[in-house]
Amino acid sequence: MRFPSFPNIVRTLYTLGNATARLQPLRGTSNVSLFHRATVYRSMPSIPLLGSLFSTSSSEKMSYPDGRSDDEWQAVLNKEQFRVLREKGTEAPFAGEYDKHQPTSGVYTCAGCNAPLYKADHKFKSGCGWPAYFDSIPGAVTRHTDRTFGMERTEIVCSNCGGHLGHVFKGEGYPTPTDERHCVNSISLKFHDKDDPSAGIGQAK
Ligand SMILES: [Zn+2]
Repeated sequence: MRFPSFPNIVRTLYTLGNATARLQPLRGTSNVSLFHRATVYRSMPSIPLLGSLFSTSSSEKMSYPDGRSDDEWQAVLNKEQFRVLREKGTEAPFAGEYDKHQPTSGVYTCAGCNAPLYKADHKFKSGCGWPAYFDSIPGAVTRHTDRTFGMERTEIVCSNCGGHLGHVFKGEGYPTPTDERHCVNSISLKFHDKDDPSAGIGQAK
């Protein structure tokens, strides 16, 4: 004799309550961990990097292969690039250079360190106002839990320099292979129409 799956009922309730939960500040109580499990763990990749799985806070504490200081970044990035990449800013929707960009080949690299992040065929039209990718180049993007603004979201950063890219959302129903949306600031990216971007390394402006 089997009863209906209680965890599924609980999960449904938490999902229904999610809109309310996201508006409340998260303070690390036990309720938060339940919400966390219901809404965020399901968004995690099936094989996350260990560092991102166990990371609970900001990327400032992480170290990256390209560990330039703020002063060094300020010397190579313009003001808006610095605000988004190094201070986790967000550009205005529908305004970015790559929002409506749909190349058939090429690669998007980090505007800070030029590491290849996304291929042209990872990009899809989401209508959300920022460039959207259903997947990244393997290992190129690292995930962190972001608890700013009273919400719990999954931040994505460049695995090479820790530059802020945007956030990743899962389960929104887009007809893509992963049903994930990497919502990335255009200004965090540079597009190269060759699949090998090494020719243009270090040309962030
Ligand atoms: Zn980078």
